[in-house]
Amino acid sequence: MIPRLNLQPELTEKYATFLRELAKIPFAGEIRADFANRLILSTDNSIYQILPQGVVFPRTSDDLVHLFRLASQESYREITFSPRGGGTGTNGQSLSTGIIIDCSKYMKQILEMNLEEGWVKVQPGVILDQLNSYLQPHGVFFAPSVAPSSRATLGGMINTDACGQGSRIYGRTSDHILELTWILVDGTLARSRPINTKTLSQLKQDSGRLGNIYRQVDEIVSSKQELIEQTFPKIPRFMTGYNLGKVYTPTRDNFDLNRIIAGSEGTLAIITEAKLKLTKIPDYKKLVAIHYSCFDDALSAAENLLALKPSAIETIDETILALARGDEIYYRVREFIGDAKTINLVELAGDNLSQLETKVNQLISNLESQQVTGFYLAQNKQESADLWELRKKGAGLLGNRPGNRKPIAFIEDTAVPPSCLFSYIREFKALLKEYQLDYAMYGHVDVGCVHVRPTLDLKVPEDETLIRELSDKVVALVRKYGGVMWGEHGKGFRSEYTPVFFGEELYQDLGKIKAAFDPDNRLNPGKIVTPYQSKEKVVPIESPLRGHFDRQVNSAMQSEYEVAFSCNGNGMCFNFNPDSVMCPSYKGMNNRIHSPKGRASLLREWLRQLSVLSDREILATHRRHVPWNVPTKKIWNTLGKLVGVYDYSHEVYQGMHGCLACKACATQCPIHVDIPSLRAKFLDLYYTRYLRSPRDYLVGNSERLALWQAYLSAVNNFTLQNPIIRWCIEQFLGLVDPPLVSTPTVRQGLKSRGAPEFDLEQLSSLSKEEKANSVILLQDAFTSFYESPIVLDTYDFLTQLGYKVYVPPFFSSGKPLQVLGFLSEFSSIAQKNTKFLTQLGDLDIPIVGIEPSITLTYRDEYIKTIKSSESLPRVQLLQEFLVTQLQRLPKINNHNSCHLNTHNNCYYLLGHCTEKTLALASSSQWQQVFQAIGLSLNPIATGCCGMAGIYGHQAEHYQTSQDIYQLSWGQHLPNKPEERQSYLATGYSCRSQVKRLAGWKPQHPAQVLRKYL
Ligand SMILES: Cc1cc2nc3c(=O)[nH]c(=O)nc-3n(C[C@H](O)[C@H](O)[C@H](O)COP(=O)(O)OP(=O)(O)OC[C@H]3O[C@@H](n4cnc5c(N)ncnc54)[C@H](O)[C@@H]3O)c2cc1C
Ligand code: SF4
Ligand code: SF4
Repeated sequence: MIPRLNLQPELTEKYATFLRELAKIPFAGEIRADFANRLILSTDNSIYQILPQGVVFPRTSDDLVHLFRLASQESYREITFSPRGGGTGTNGQSLSTGIIIDCSKYMKQILEMNLEEGWVKVQPGVILDQLNSYLQPHGVFFAPSVAPSSRATLGGMINTDACGQGSRIYGRTSDHILELTWILVDGTLARSRPINTKTLSQLKQDSGRLGNIYRQVDEIVSSKQELIEQTFPKIPRFMTGYNLGKVYTPTRDNFDLNRIIAGSEGTLAIITEAKLKLTKIPDYKKLVAIHYSCFDDALSAAENLLALKPSAIETIDETILALARGDEIYYRVREFIGDAKTINLVELAGDNLSQLETKVNQLISNLESQQVTGFYLAQNKQESADLWELRKKGAGLLGNRPGNRKPIAFIEDTAVPPSCLFSYIREFKALLKEYQLDYAMYGHVDVGCVHVRPTLDLKVPEDETLIRELSDKVVALVRKYGGVMWGEHGKGFRSEYTPVFFGEELYQDLGKIKAAFDPDNRLNPGKIVTPYQSKEKVVPIESPLRGHFDRQVNSAMQSEYEVAFSCNGNGMCFNFNPDSVMCPSYKGMNNRIHSPKGRASLLREWLRQLSVLSDREILATHRRHVPWNVPTKKIWNTLGKLVGVYDYSHEVYQGMHGCLACKACATQCPIHVDIPSLRAKFLDLYYTRYLRSPRDYLVGNSERLALWQAYLSAVNNFTLQNPIIRWCIEQFLGLVDPPLVSTPTVRQGLKSRGAPEFDLEQLSSLSKEEKANSVILLQDAFTSFYESPIVLDTYDFLTQLGYKVYVPPFFSSGKPLQVLGFLSEFSSIAQKNTKFLTQLGDLDIPIVGIEPSITLTYRDEYIKTIKSSESLPRVQLLQEFLVTQLQRLPKINNHNSCHLNTHNNCYYLLGHCTEKTLALASSSQWQQVFQAIGLSLNPIATGCCGMAGIYGHQAEHYQTSQDIYQLSWGQHLPNKPEERQSYLATGYSCRSQVKRLAGWKPQHPAQVLRKYL
């Protein structure tokens, strides 16, 4: 039995009182002081882990005014605040021991747009992709980009002065700011925009804090003009944050305070609104992927490529390309990258197509004289998007590198003049070689900024010491080449190097600016600079690392839960796009606890606490002795749980319980953090201490139960339609909308069709030719008992194609047991079924399943459980089988299609999440099958339907299940009844969800195909 866990540090009294008082004033945002919320925000994409005291999620700027007014009271003077956006910072910029102000949850409205004047006004929590998809129909975009554009916020981008692909022509975020609204720590709300010297003089007259800010900044940038000129390097990736060099325009008639605020990492003020410049989307873009045999060739080619003035040149090295080959992205780009060792992605953009084509031709013909091994010119927008996606996923993929040493971000964004890049990188590599460190390199060679991530295992103290050693040496190297240490990702825990680049005198001036904005060092303290003459210091590079915590977990657990430790916090699982499959629970609940990263973080801490309190042996022993019986100790623990006895395991449980087990994370996350598998292991252990609910036993055995329901279908359906019974099921079992058994049952339907008997012996005696014309159609509980017409239609369809279809008796797959963490029960079922499936495999007859979630269980969870892929025959999805049988499919003619009344024989396919993520080719396979028969099928990009097997039937998830449906499916399905028959869905859950929320049921593709024969 696992112990009760309670090892987390408590809140200090001062913070606890402040948060209690905050709840009493008109603060409409959320206030969280529970450990799970604090823990989730203790990491970002950096190597650090710093536990905050609390988290607040403001809804409006008024909330912040109220918060800071309260905080201004004398008794709360020691309380500090750090703003946070998407939390994708790579250097711990948003981490702090105070209160985190998370603007990403509610402050994410696009407020206003003026196309004539070319601007848009946003709240700080708006995500870059969210903004650009809003702007795209108007032909404009927000030009600065970042690789994590699907989750990085404008507030974060402004405060790191972010930029990425395309920065050579579009510049940084600070180049696109027209006006900022911000709030100081004393509650003063202010607005800043470029002003002329007359307005500046007026503002300087103000006797309050604002006047002081303008006076102080002007005094420094005016009196130190020459020093600033000498200090700030003239390179594309200029120095960011407190950017003294750009406050005045070169003609010195315009003063822009926003140049100081941009890149200040939340140390000066909290941004509450931003008015941003819009840029016209170029009419045409062309992307060429150029292949090289090594990184050095790609790097040295950059200078020649620059001659054509491309909008971007991005390099991806061998390490990332090798990792990409094991990821779902490879499926999309393999033809474009071939067997290249390194690639340069070169983008050319413009408004004149023929000029652009001339440039592309010139680029391609120049390649002949260079050391390239091939190239690919993207043929359309989708191909370009896929190649850019490969680049964006690159950093995340690095966490997937085998072994304990992973590529680590801490010296990853140095920038030097592009002309020195080759020599600089040569020295950089020599340095890493000296330490015998492997590394990955990629990035923006066009602007002299290459991302270098040495591989380290920060769980090992010796590797940890290298962070300091290497950082010091790289700083010296960058200085030698006249570059900057923070070409892209900001300072954060690297703030101690700020004086090296600004020089001691200007660094003191930064302190004066900090003092003017935040004299008591309460905003993101320790980042960049502390107030002038303050005794406080900036955060040291040796601040607590995630590795400190992870190394406390015993090694057996580290390897059993390996992916939870590999999660590098890149945040791809926070993808905002409702039509992407990635993490419906995060989207539906708008809570980072309910994301793969959140769950992996909760789990790591859980394992740490377990390791500290017990050891692996005890856990293993107890796991073996977890029977179905009910020991007294468990009853006692469960009673404690009911009366509110704290156990950290309950917080982990809550996080895990929100997971839909859709499996998107298992493939879409670059590290393949498979939360459903981790969750099953967690639940298995959690219930060694606590009793399970009766619902768990019922749902866990629902497949067997469904078999009995089908035997007694009339009684079952009559009972389940009774409103009182349904009410009781909801109240006492927590289940809603229990499905009804469909009739005729599969057994009855097959009998009436005279289906061949399933007899293993008889099947094994079939001739080779007979076998070639046979199919084994596996049953699953969902379609067999609740949608038998689909099984029978599939049977008819395959029979009409000339196959003899053998349907073995139903057997439980064990999937619900696996989802709920009944691991030993699942394991016995998997072992038993594996034997049977192996016998089927020996027959050499194709084995096909209809329902994706069950069919893929045989290929995913079974393999993990029985730990051998060899003994399991491949159970194919229907489309995987059909795509190998295209020659059998007849071409339709108008006669057999006209009665179906669809528009131009055109259908739309909405795939099942598990199928889209674990069987990547599934949509295109269905397309090929439909095409072969003469029909058109268009896959629609959708997120999750919100049902996901058990999830949508759990009463406590009913509302979220509906919300998730509305985010994506609800937006794509037609309202007009006559259009509905063209919409097809492959998953049982998805069809049931549409039925219960929209009142009609999409057909399965096999049902449509059958009608055309
Ligand atoms: C895989 C990966 C690739 C990356 N690639 C790039 C890249 O190409 N280019 C690039 O520039 N960066 C890149 N980054 C770094 C990071 O994405 C950027 O720094 C981004 O701008 C951070 O945005 P965020 O919303 O996540 O901010 P956070 O990390 O949450 O915060 C960043 C800083 O902004 C401050 N902040 C946030 N909101 C506010 C606010 N409302 N008011 C005041 N201060 C605030 C925080 O205190 C913190 O100091 C990458 C990161 C990852 C994980
Ligand atoms: S779970 Fe995956 S996608 Fe999410 S932060 Fe971790 S590694 Fe990135
Ligand atoms: S299985 Fe789905 S809902 Fe659960 S964490 Fe993964 S992506 Fe999110």
